Amino acid sequence: MPSKPIFTEIDGRRLKLTNLDKILYPSVGVLKAEVINFYLENAALFLPYLKDRPLTVIRWPDGIEGKKFYSKNKPKWTPKWIPSVQIPGEDNNYLLANERAILGWLGNLAALELHPMGSTSQQIDHPDHLIFDLDPLTSNEFPVIKELAFLLKEYLEKLGYVPFLKTSGSKGLHIYIPIEPKWTFKEAIESLKKLCQNFIQSKAPHCTLAVHKGKRKDKILLDIYRNYRGNTCVAPYSLRGKAGAPISTPIFWDQLAEVNSSGQFTLRNIKVQLAKGDPWENFKNSARPIHDYADRSKIVSTSASLEKLDQYNAKRDFTKTKEPTAEIPNEAQQRFVIQLHDASNLHYDLRLESEGTLLSWAIPKALPTKKDKARLAIRTEDHPVKYLDFEGIIPKEEYGGGEMWIIERGRYEWIEKKEGKLKFKLNGDKFECSYNLFKTKNNQWLCKVLSAPVLSVYANLPQPMLANARKTIPKATHYHHEIKWDGIRVFIIIEEEDLKIISRSGRDITKHFPKLRAAREEFEIEEGVFDGEIVVLDESGKPLFSEVISRMHTTGENTIARASISKRATCYIFDCLVVDGHQMMYRPQERRYGILRAVIPKMKYFRVSEVFEDGEALFKGIQEAGMEGIMSKDKKAPYFPGKRSDGWLKIKVRSEIVATVIGYTKGQGARSGMIGALHLAQIKEEKIVYLGKVGTGFDHSTLQAIMEKLKSIAVISKPIKEDIEEASRTVWLDSKFKCNIEYASLASTGTLREPVWKGWAD
Ligand code: MN
Repeated sequence: MPSKPIFTEIDGRRLKLTNLDKILYPSVGVLKAEVINFYLENAALFLPYLKDRPLTVIRWPDGIEGKKFYSKNKPKWTPKWIPSVQIPGEDNNYLLANERAILGWLGNLAALELHPMGSTSQQIDHPDHLIFDLDPLTSNEFPVIKELAFLLKEYLEKLGYVPFLKTSGSKGLHIYIPIEPKWTFKEAIESLKKLCQNFIQSKAPHCTLAVHKGKRKDKILLDIYRNYRGNTCVAPYSLRGKAGAPISTPIFWDQLAEVNSSGQFTLRNIKVQLAKGDPWENFKNSARPIHDYADRSKIVSTSASLEKLDQYNAKRDFTKTKEPTAEIPNEAQQRFVIQLHDASNLHYDLRLESEGTLLSWAIPKALPTKKDKARLAIRTEDHPVKYLDFEGIIPKEEYGGGEMWIIERGRYEWIEKKEGKLKFKLNGDKFECSYNLFKTKNNQWLCKVLSAPVLSVYANLPQPMLANARKTIPKATHYHHEIKWDGIRVFIIIEEEDLKIISRSGRDITKHFPKLRAAREEFEIEEGVFDGEIVVLDESGKPLFSEVISRMHTTGENTIARASISKRATCYIFDCLVVDGHQMMYRPQERRYGILRAVIPKMKYFRVSEVFEDGEALFKGIQEAGMEGIMSKDKKAPYFPGKRSDGWLKIKVRSEIVATVIGYTKGQGARSGMIGALHLAQIKEEKIVYLGKVGTGFDHSTLQAIMEKLKSIAVISKPIKEDIEEASRTVWLDSKFKCNIEYASLASTGTLREPVWKGWAD
């Protein structure tokens, strides 16, 4: 029986999802629901490589063992809101997967393979990246392909390209080089052929460009034939219609040595890879001119531009600052960067590459994100192009002293360019927005939004990121460590003058924390979404979980007001999802942390949870302080809403205690006739200090043995004054038997949290 269709809404689009329990990959049991889920959860990773590109999909409505359907032309039943495009010289009406809901719709069609073109519909004749497809002759020759990939990488880098790597998810590897979309497919492939001929001759005589198998003999085909107009290649993160649900997966170059097959990353294990960060984060920013056509691009007049950097030079002492020196590249491109600069005043810097330098503005209150807002922008001196990649610390006493982080980068297009009147569209890696920037007087400009960035985070607040539990602290240096705060997990939402506190279940709990709400000004930004934990600290700085819980259940304004004085809540912020309209989730953890420190500098009601490099030392400190544990976070990991991964690890302190068994609760269900849990206490100078009960850590035979041992002991009346649950099923004993118990921490009531039975103490 097929399951009933489900109607759902994704980002305001209504979708009908059918046969969600259909098995699409029989050998691993992957259901259609899982495919749709994968598409929706990772849409932000998919979309940059699909948006505006004519798309061919391969569908397997009956799973990969059934019939497959290629579609270049959009199906008749395609909903009206899904855009499509016809390209000159073809009859097909291609789909454009431009938003998350379309990915959901494609998943529902069992479109397992997504093959976009190498150009966008706006510049259909001009590719913006080139692809090398490396396939081994036989499956055991994958190591040969790896070696070839490294050789090619080195060769491409010498020519000025930035190569990006992914598994094809089938047999081999794909290398992509982003290029400026200024050359036609014909020009690009001509140049590429020459490049490959030289490469084969000088570095790789075991390769060939000959497609015909007879001509190829036993040589490896250096396949550049996906770069013809109208050809496609499987998209980064697309599934493949092959056994095991493999994914064409972007990987870091330094990972390649450990990759042993093209199908290594699958729907079942992709999470581990995603937790390592986005290997293609800089894809859009890395477009280069085609190397042997560079002379055809607009060459910058060097003498004129160097003068433009005189001011930049005069303000800086390059023996003291690590900022780039004034240099002019020999070709003109249109890249941009937005940096967050923690100088004397926290501000953003917008820089547009133009004629060999970066036109620069300092923006005190961030670029506007709403149409009715105009924000001040102060024109600053032109910066050298190398500043596009600058991130780091400018020494305090130097000009612009303070730390700087890259928030967005990518390419831009002019909409209008007149003296003192600029209109342009920023096309970032995960950001699209156009602005009107115009001069008012002297160096003062105003910035207005023409089309606003789209952020679905506000409409659909995601689930908080979760952690995998570990017993040991990771030793790898790409982890840093912080205190595991023990309180209430919350999202803090800042919108202009407003501050909202949203609980893990999505409930607005702002009214329970008036002092936190009043501390809005501790965030030096206009808007944002932050992840943190509200804790009530005891005098020693230790968080008291029960106190926060009691704050949550306090009602009535006067009681809340009193509680907020007696039980002062502090909110530890450890992550940001959005900062001033910029999506932060796919940025590396360490950058997100740096940005937090810059935007929440006061450390009063809201404090940035400090990170430590020495995990062992932190753990020891936590253990001594009787706190819950530590979090170890991969510095490169993105923020995964609602997911556990190795991006975040939690390592809880476990302690041992010797306790006396003072009774038991009778078991029920599977434990009927045996003990359900043991009541524990410590007996100090005749006084019984109740420790709560332990119900885990036993196997069946242990339970039986314990029952036997306890049968012989005299039953007494309740020896403690604490109220307990299931009192009627509890038996109290005059026991002297002692046992070992492992536990996480002591609750404020003195009972053990997460206790586990470890055996009798002798
Ligand atoms: Mn600045």
